[in-house]
Amino acid sequence: MKRSLIIALLCLLLPLIQAGKPKPNLILISVDTLRQDHLGIYGYPRNTSPNIDRLLSRGVWFTNAHSNVPLTNPSFCSMMTSRYPHEIGATRNGIPMVRDALTLAEILKKNGYTTVAFLSNWPLKAHLSNLDQGFDIYDDNFSKKRWLFFNDERDARGVTEQATNWLKNHLKEPLFLWAHYSEPHAPYISHKGFRFSDPRLPDTEEQRRIDAYDSEIAYADHYIGELLSALDQLGVLKTSLVFFVADHGESLGEHGYVGHGRYLYEPSMRIPFGLSGPGILRGVRIDAQVELLDLAPTFLAYAGIPIPSQMRGRNLLPYIWGEKPWEEPYLIYFETYPGAVRGKGMEKLASLKKPIWVGLKVGELKVLYSVLNSRWEMYQLQPDPGELHNLADPVNQVFIQFSEKLLKWWRGWKDTAVVGSTSALTEQDRKKLEALGYINK
Ligand SMILES: [Zn+2]
Repeated sequence: MKRSLIIALLCLLLPLIQAGKPKPNLILISVDTLRQDHLGIYGYPRNTSPNIDRLLSRGVWFTNAHSNVPLTNPSFCSMMTSRYPHEIGATRNGIPMVRDALTLAEILKKNGYTTVAFLSNWPLKAHLSNLDQGFDIYDDNFSKKRWLFFNDERDARGVTEQATNWLKNHLKEPLFLWAHYSEPHAPYISHKGFRFSDPRLPDTEEQRRIDAYDSEIAYADHYIGELLSALDQLGVLKTSLVFFVADHGESLGEHGYVGHGRYLYEPSMRIPFGLSGPGILRGVRIDAQVELLDLAPTFLAYAGIPIPSQMRGRNLLPYIWGEKPWEEPYLIYFETYPGAVRGKGMEKLASLKKPIWVGLKVGELKVLYSVLNSRWEMYQLQPDPGELHNLADPVNQVFIQFSEKLLKWWRGWKDTAVVGSTSALTEQDRKKLEALGYINK
């Protein structure tokens, strides 16, 4: 059958799917700190991700997919509201978004969904993020489990076990399930049975770091596979739209930096992003530019629920189905902040509002502005994917055009940025965020 005919049929069928009750189940599987180029489906030579690859290949997956902010709490608050961090107050780890920010889970709950989340990362604890808004179950109680010497994360086995136990005993449809895995977040641990090494490569600290990071991905991937098997056995998978994303990537030494949050370069910003389910084409790679802001509107549209006007992202379904041409080039904006707030009253409000970098990407062009150092950078990702040759030049017309666009965007909100309260942060939280590398001593 011709592809155009398949698309036409899908366009005809989806309104019927949406009109016919029950509503589809919606599943979000996210992995923290997972850079796109370490997954097999995106061309990585190591077999780090057989289950994620299989999941993504059941639907459409995007190569030019980006996070809007490379920090965990800001990224998830932004993703769940389809708003920029500066609009909802979640500018750092440790600062929850404001309570009146409308979340995907709240909208789904109002529309009859059972909403459940299984978390694994300290910055996403309810009192530090307010991401529990709209969830019937927000399981962030992982501080005493596993890893005797380190308990800032719930491990992948724990996420899958908790989610699977709940599904087996309490499943009620329509369901919105969010399962979040945190393995690739530092510190990187090499997991028995999921180890990688290559005797042809020199035994350096950098290579050992990459080997351990890959081991973390493979370990999470294994338990994501188990969760998908459980969903399949329970008959949930075949009636679900499944989104797979990361909140941001990870710099593994690029630009002299290991971690995420400090810069807006591709290792931290480019993420895996794909969706699969009834009505979604299978096995299609899409190179059009998308961003995490697009996730919530797409979920809502698939469920036949109106998208609130304040949501910034796009419903991707008409583009995926060929009803609308992808807007190319499409412009997306980024912002980033110091990793975590230090504690109650330790930083001034103005500093909590202030990003360290803002940036934009349009096609293969990236323009970055260091708010901290008043410095400009511009890169053409082809032929410079490593962002090594700064093309920022005050007489370059492209630079003039897009630097003005970026400044206009940032100046449009820099004085009105919203900041949530820092009062939720306890001494224990501060220690946990420090252990995760978010607070500079
Ligand atoms: Zn994260």
